[in-house]
Amino acid sequence: MHILITGGAGFIGSHLCDRLLEDGHNVVVLDNLVTGSLDNIAHITQDKNFRFINQNVAEYIDLQDPVDAVMHFASPASPSQTAPNGYLQLPIQTLKAGALGTLNALGVAKKYNSIFMLASTSEVYGDPLVHPQTEDYWGNVNPIGPRSVYDEAKRFAEALTMAYHRTHNVKTRIVRIFNTYGPRMAIDDGRVVPNFICQALRNDPLTIYGDGSQTRSFCYVSDLIDGIILLLNSDITSPTNIGNPHEITILEFAQTINRLINNPAGTILENNRTQGDPEQRKPNITKANQMLSWHPKVKLEKGLAETISFFKNQLDD
Ligand code: UDP
Repeated sequence: MHILITGGAGFIGSHLCDRLLEDGHNVVVLDNLVTGSLDNIAHITQDKNFRFINQNVAEYIDLQDPVDAVMHFASPASPSQTAPNGYLQLPIQTLKAGALGTLNALGVAKKYNSIFMLASTSEVYGDPLVHPQTEDYWGNVNPIGPRSVYDEAKRFAEALTMAYHRTHNVKTRIVRIFNTYGPRMAIDDGRVVPNFICQALRNDPLTIYGDGSQTRSFCYVSDLIDGIILLLNSDITSPTNIGNPHEITILEFAQTINRLINNPAGTILENNRTQGDPEQRKPNITKANQMLSWHPKVKLEKGLAETISFFKNQLDD
């Protein structure tokens, strides 16, 4: 297949490129490197089946060669209040990537009659009142809160994707991605995984926002990619959760990382939670399990070991 990946120089997008190239496909990446990085794709830029276009997805995509699939993964995604590449610092760009970017990417899929996959998010559930989150839950999102620039952009993107499916019969897939971690996460994106690992490697205390009782469920990136490929090759047009249901509190997560890295500095509590920071998050993955025979395989400590070794190299460089 010939596949266009928007955001292909990002954390998840670049792992997707690797897998698709390994499987013999031809990959075109469109990315403006606002949150992605050429470092993530440096090892594949010379591959004869790979091409990179430096472009903002919110601008018209003039793709001359037909593609069999369009995978729309471009968007800022970190909710950090301070990171320059987080969506709170890029509010309009984030809304444009979700709205205009999705429109442009769907336009390419419609033009070439290709499969379209939207990278959606557990953030469509907002601060969820249903736990664990099933795909039929409509969410609890403040439409004008700070996180709305991401949450509502992705909700609009889902609506647009379904409209193209219903109106133009585009073969669409919507993957709702829960917290994912692994090598190539941006070291400075302010999310909990890079923050905690880098703090621990520097023997600093881990900054827990709030009291650490909020929960997340972390999926290793290779498991996510397995699920995405299975979904791409399926005929499921309705949204599908892909994530790891192993739920832990942020405090437990910090303690695990300190133990794995032997960091004696412990944790400090900071009153730093973004408004709308979900109290709990855990995917219900029954649908992916039953319809795709997918389930995550990589245990947290194994995935963290790989991720720690990546960040150790980054800090040593
Ligand atoms: N968090 C934290 N310390 C940090 C960074 C994040 O305690 O240094 C918390 C944050 O408040 C949230 C959770 O960790 O409750 C996960 O945050 P992240 O930024 O990774 O993304 P989210 O899951 O909210 O999209």
